[in-house]
Amino acid sequence: MDIPFWNKEIETAERSRLEQIQLERLKVTVGWALKTALYRKRLNQAGINSPDDIKSLGDLRRIPFTTKDDLRVSFPKGHLAVDMVDVLRIHSSSGTTGIPTVIYYSREDVDNWTDLLARSIVGAGGTRADVFQNMMTYGFFTGGLGLHYGAERVGMTVIPISGGNTKRQIQTMRDFRSTVLHVTPSYLLHIHSKLGDEGVCLEDLALRKAFIGAEPHSENTRRKLQDLLRIEAFNSYGLSELNGPGVAFECVCRKDMHVWEDGYIAEIIDPKTGEVLKDGQEGELVLTNIVRRATPILRYRTRDLAFLHPQGCDCGRTHRRLSRILGRTDDMLIINGVNVFPSQIEEKIMKIPEVATNYLIHVDKKGALDRLTVKVEIYPKLFLGEVSKLESLKHKIVEELRASITISPAVELHEPGSLPVSEGKAKRVVDERPKD
Ligand code: ADP
Ligand code: ZN
Repeated sequence: MDIPFWNKEIETAERSRLEQIQLERLKVTVGWALKTALYRKRLNQAGINSPDDIKSLGDLRRIPFTTKDDLRVSFPKGHLAVDMVDVLRIHSSSGTTGIPTVIYYSREDVDNWTDLLARSIVGAGGTRADVFQNMMTYGFFTGGLGLHYGAERVGMTVIPISGGNTKRQIQTMRDFRSTVLHVTPSYLLHIHSKLGDEGVCLEDLALRKAFIGAEPHSENTRRKLQDLLRIEAFNSYGLSELNGPGVAFECVCRKDMHVWEDGYIAEIIDPKTGEVLKDGQEGELVLTNIVRRATPILRYRTRDLAFLHPQGCDCGRTHRRLSRILGRTDDMLIINGVNVFPSQIEEKIMKIPEVATNYLIHVDKKGALDRLTVKVEIYPKLFLGEVSKLESLKHKIVEELRASITISPAVELHEPGSLPVSEGKAKRVVDERPKD
């Protein structure tokens, strides 16, 4: 296989060289962090008063973790390390769960971020000959603009269509013969289900790849997308606190995502004790941004559960690979005392061929007991067959789920298009239990 690189020297650098770069950049970052109200005190308390107090990468562990709440408390400027006149761009989270978090980028920060995205795109086989339809929302959300700049740097033909308006997305894919999409996996599944309504078949399209990210999805969802659309789908991971997309991205091997370790230091910790775990062990991903000046963020607890692969990759890159996100520390459902992650449910149902492209997890209470209902859309032709077939399909889904999550949910079968869809990040769980 021909392996494409954006910056081969840095992408295949020896580990010792990478670690040397990380140490140099960590020191510089700590210097910037010391300029912020958020970090000055906590670094001083940890005995770090100047960048020279960081002598080895091991010293990172002396720095306390940063949480989303810390960033909320420091809203709006407690974590800003430069003068506003040097800020080129602001991104912010939606703020639906309280005070939004805000991230500032200097000109250099935007430039460095763009470079990591160009690297990610090229690593996944994108080229200047591609027509790139960017279906992620433009605006405060980092997904749209982030990839936009990266794709332009690669020299792709960029269609900045943003999210939503499925009809127009499909027409655009056809009219401009888009070859690469950037999209959430749930929305791409929805788009596929609407191709027929627009009178479009795969032969009318020129799709070859999709970069899918911004929300959890299983390997079975990736396979489903690849089969339905006859494309290669690449997992893309990032979060606004750490720039946005471009933290980790799959290369052409499509075996989990390289974390760009010259831009980020990744650690996996035990979410309960904070202890740093070894490669291969699953825990919470903690990230330190080592090339961002305006908003330096140290040891950020992402709440995303994953592991780092201990071994390298067939592509020759030395930057370690991050597993797909296996769940979030805060999306775990407790159903009558049993811990259930939505990702376990998705993985099972997406491998059942009769299941179409959308599902919803519903939780409520009946009397004293929690009740879990999994609503799945199935292909319409199945409703034309015998009722007993539907019953046995339902039974099959219950059994698959029980084997994985140890409890039996109720399963409802729905026609395609009947469950709510999202044009950006999907909302898969509706929890209607009373909060006490
Ligand atoms: P918000 O926190 O407001 O949703 P972000 O866009 O920063 O805004 O969301 C980042 C989060 O999205 C990550 O912490 C992670 O939980 C999820 N996410 C992003 N990319 C992926 C991916 N490829 N796989 C699974 N989850 C992802
Ligand atoms: Zn690789």
